[in-house]
Amino acid sequence: MNNFSRRKFLSSVALTGAAAALLPEVASTQSLLGVVRPTVVISSGNGLAAVDKAMRMIEQGSDALDAVIAGVNLVEDDPNDMTVGYGGLPNEDGIVELDASVMHGPTHRAGAVASLRNIKNPSLVAKMVMERTDHVLLVGEGALQFAKMHGFKEEDLLTEESRNMWVKWKEHLSTEDDYLPPHSIDDKNIGSKFHEVMHTNGTINCLGKDRNGNISGVTTTSGLAYKIPGRVGDSPIIGAGLYVDNEVGGAGSTGRGEANLTCCSSVLIVEFMRQGKSPEEACFMACKRIVEYTKMKRLLTDDGKPKFNVTFYAINKRGEHGCVSLFSGGSYCLHDGKQNKKFDPAYLYKRS
Ligand code: ASP
Repeated sequence: MNNFSRRKFLSSVALTGAAAALLPEVASTQSLLGVVRPTVVISSGNGLAAVDKAMRMIEQGSDALDAVIAGVNLVEDDPNDMTVGYGGLPNEDGIVELDASVMHGPTHRAGAVASLRNIKNPSLVAKMVMERTDHVLLVGEGALQFAKMHGFKEEDLLTEESRNMWVKWKEHLSTEDDYLPPHSIDDKNIGSKFHEVMHTNGTINCLGKDRNGNISGVTTTSGLAYKIPGRVGDSPIIGAGLYVDNEVGGAGSTGRGEANLTCCSSVLIVEFMRQGKSPEEACFMACKRIVEYTKMKRLLTDDGKPKFNVTFYAINKRGEHGCVSLFSGGSYCLHDGKQNKKFDPAYLYKRS
């Protein structure tokens, strides 16, 4: 961020000391990588392999959408990532339900699936929706039938590990119900608290700019762990979990989907970039919007901060990028055509 835009940005949003303190660090990261590059791929912190794969394809001349989808397919296939695809944490009934969206900058088309069961690569089904229907979003049983029609194979997406996590969650949900975790003759209060410390969020968003200067993106997730069956987050909703305007840039998100759904954060970030904000400034402004519009006391700490986190990723037409979270911590992956590395997102609040 140059001095001018940095000054303008700092006066345009009320940043905390922590956020302001972090900006020079981010600026130096960007200058280290070079601000303007012909190609770029960014993803959430779980996407190092995805970003690498996508950039290799882009460097070989691939369209950005094919590249980022091939990248996230690695994560969807990975049983060890319990937030995406195969091995993703299931809904409250123990069934994995996946959400995904894709958006192709040059044709301004999009495709998405929500609550898709038994198909481990929802991003590929989302692309098929984009290419082989007149629609943008298919859900549930309809999405599954559509996937099968196109030859996608059904399989059980629950791994031993994700099944065990679900059983643990169920057994610790309440001390009043009939499910009990392993316990001894002396144990009292069996089954409390465990779920409060469990990891329940995660997703991959990946955005790329290819050698033709075209921008595309994908977001894919198993959504909120142990969700109410049929719950759909922001990831498959164009404008919330993903948005691309080929003339401006692309944005995506991970974190509490409900916050992004009510703020339409991804389209907001792209619109801020259209008005001249850098990707990082635009992501900061979307974070601030979420804070402003989180009004329900149950979602706020005593000092008025959200109890949840959200992270935004953005790239623009010039190949600049930004990644900002509400709270410090976490990481994002960036390949600038030369190197592939993890970085710390900028943030509004230092996590206490
Ligand atoms: N945004 C996803 C959802 O709400 C979850 C996440 O990224 O943590 O479904």
